[in-house]
Amino acid sequence: MDVPFVDFSEQYQIIKDEIEPGLNKVFEAGNFILGQEEKDFEASFAKYCDAKYAVGVNSGTDALYLALAALDIKEGDEVILPPYTFIATALCISYGGAKPVFVDIEPDTYNLDPKKLKQAITSKTKAIIPVHIYGQAANMQEICAIAKEHKLKVIEDAAQAHGARYQGRRVGSLGDVACFSFYPTKALGAFGDGGMIVTSDETIYKNSLMLRDYGREGRYEHKIKGYNSRLDTVQAVILSAKLKRLDQWNQMRAGMADVYRQELAAVADIVTPVLKSDRTHVYQTYAIRTKNRDHVVDALKEKRIGVLIHYPIPLHLQQAYQELGHKTGDFPVSEQVASEILSLPMFPHITKEQVQYVCDSLKMIVSSKVGV
Ligand SMILES: *Cc1c(COP(=O)(O)O)cnc(C)c1O
Repeated sequence: MDVPFVDFSEQYQIIKDEIEPGLNKVFEAGNFILGQEEKDFEASFAKYCDAKYAVGVNSGTDALYLALAALDIKEGDEVILPPYTFIATALCISYGGAKPVFVDIEPDTYNLDPKKLKQAITSKTKAIIPVHIYGQAANMQEICAIAKEHKLKVIEDAAQAHGARYQGRRVGSLGDVACFSFYPTKALGAFGDGGMIVTSDETIYKNSLMLRDYGREGRYEHKIKGYNSRLDTVQAVILSAKLKRLDQWNQMRAGMADVYRQELAAVADIVTPVLKSDRTHVYQTYAIRTKNRDHVVDALKEKRIGVLIHYPIPLHLQQAYQELGHKTGDFPVSEQVASEILSLPMFPHITKEQVQYVCDSLKMIVSSKVGV
């Protein structure tokens, strides 16, 4: 049996008939940039996130970068983030000349550890970027309490967690501003690049609107040096159709995560994802840990099962960030997780038979392991 890592062909069949007339309308009207459909999608996405405003941009990376710019974070400032994330979380800080400061993760959720936060705060710290890794929110209650005490801004990196809830509230409404990616393989994915800034703060909203559109207020009146980073109208048509079905698709992911857990939880040397009782998990990524990871990955690939590693190298050990002067041992939890983690096939329309095949294969591989 072939089990691809992701396969969104069924999603396309479901939305095909709905998006075609919408796309044709855009093609005929020619309103390709920030057309009405884009504005409508911003409104429905803000509402979906329990927030007041949403600003469509080019990518999740741009959403993060522009959100930091909207908060006036610049050279000389420090921004705290976990080293265990996709590199875009750090790049957005570097683009504006600020310094990324790493804080290690919790060993169970792989999210930023609030207990280690205070020791990283200095007089230069301006903001914290918790990442809702794999689709489960970080410990926002404690992170926001520390942020408030030190007058720091909180920027949610929600690029992997569209629709997840924390203490009943949606991610996107938990900090000062939140950033989403619509990269095709994300829980809500476009047919190309796209991203969104979500906030309930009017100043951040207005700054974001200007920043994504050349810093303009009127047509040719430019208040600040802005950028060109906008969400295409055709992507908004596709994303609107998918947003209507997102909760259902997230539930389907969670259903398949249950099958994985039931099959794998009792297997020695496999650690399944830990779900906190005050959160929901959208399982954008279904990541397990195993001590003999590289062998397991090779063996799964031999059985034609798609696997990936998110993420093999924590950011503090990346060459791109060698200027920060970190070394192995600086963030031991991130390093340990990075050496054991592996992502199994997960998408809304994966079948129970496919998940069963992955689990059976895994059990066979770990029970007959070699080279430990
Ligand atoms: C995907 C991702 C991003 C970047 O989003 P793009 O749309 O690819 O630019 C940022 N942070 C995290 C955690 C991501 O997973």
